[in-house]
Amino acid sequence: MAKSPETEHPNKAFGWAAKDKSGVLSPFHFSRRDNGDNDVTVKILYCGVCHTDLHTIKNDWGFSYYPVVPGHEIVGIATKVGKNVTKFREGDRVGVGVITGSCQSCESCNQDLENYCPQMSFTYNSIGSDGTKTYGGYSESIVVDQRFVLQFPEGLPSDSGAPLLCAGITVYSPMKYYGMTEPGKHLGVAGLGGLGHVAVKIGKAFGLKVTVISSSPSKEDEAINRLGADSFLVSSDSQKMKAAIGTMDYIIDTVSAVHALFPLLGLLKVNGKLVTLGLPEKPLELPIFPLVLGRKMVGGSDIGGMKETQEMLEFCAKHNITADIELIKMDEINTAMERLAKSDVRYRFVIDVANSLSPP
Ligand code: NAP
Ligand code: ZN
Repeated sequence: MAKSPETEHPNKAFGWAAKDKSGVLSPFHFSRRDNGDNDVTVKILYCGVCHTDLHTIKNDWGFSYYPVVPGHEIVGIATKVGKNVTKFREGDRVGVGVITGSCQSCESCNQDLENYCPQMSFTYNSIGSDGTKTYGGYSESIVVDQRFVLQFPEGLPSDSGAPLLCAGITVYSPMKYYGMTEPGKHLGVAGLGGLGHVAVKIGKAFGLKVTVISSSPSKEDEAINRLGADSFLVSSDSQKMKAAIGTMDYIIDTVSAVHALFPLLGLLKVNGKLVTLGLPEKPLELPIFPLVLGRKMVGGSDIGGMKETQEMLEFCAKHNITADIELIKMDEINTAMERLAKSDVRYRFVIDVANSLSPP
């Protein structure tokens, strides 16, 4: 018989989990493995709330495996390191992102693209390399193989820096890979949420002109005056959308729900590139005519490898890029999820885990 979450590993652990597709999170006792020779045990300080957490607790994609302890934007302190661990020492501030395991020997892993390894395991709702279920960062601690632990640069705050571990790398990696970093070029960012607002900041750091394409007119002032965007388009304003046709070199699409690609493709110049990062629960329709007639391209991208994630953290530290956050207590998470579902967050919730998570 399978062991219970509380007894399968030697060390007691505590967090908050969704128990079914209602998505309601509540206190949950489980366990963590002993720190192995290659492992780092992390005491969790902060954890960001990604829309992927919301998709997963609601079983939007049909592969949620309850109970789910979400959370993959983790900043904490290394409290134990195994004897083979060379990169970290006890007391170091470290980060853990979306993945915590991979085969470490396939073509993708050998190219530092662990994120595309066929045996990659996610930080939660997945099976780890030891064959047991993974539980994420809405919890007091986590044990992770050193390859999947990041050094958290000195200049980055732990709370507003945490979202970089998913939102940051998810927008940084495609910008680098698809060549969307040429200064002076025009970047559109569709969807101004967790990913989108970091894309605006990273785009500006690369020297791009950045236009936000949003369904929320109320975000215009902040997009320009706080986040540094150059202009703002409301996607339902057909006149302004029409006037912007053919003006953008690249678009990063972070919209979390089903939406039309046709208007976005229209905004691109000839040879323009649209990278879709959002993961709506149903397929999007791909209009072929604008692609063919304008030699345009649509691509995707999934977070980034560990080496590039470290590079992104250094880049953000150098350019003073952090997320704009709303810091919440653990027991405020269900309200936060309701607001996230309504795109009502400026612009990432982060849970103050160390100061608000305590067993009942
Ligand atoms: P988020 O904070 O909720 O932001 C998504 C934004 O999309 C919203 O703020 C809203 O922006 C827009 N939006 C939401 N519903 C919409 C609708 N019905 N029509 C038009 N626009 C809508 O989410 P996030 O954490 O940034 O994540 C975004 C998506 O990326 C999610 O699907 C998530 O699962 C996925 N994701 C993918 C990766 C990857 O590696 N590819 C990594 C992380 C997350 P406006 O108010 O500005 O319209
Ligand atoms: Zn995420």
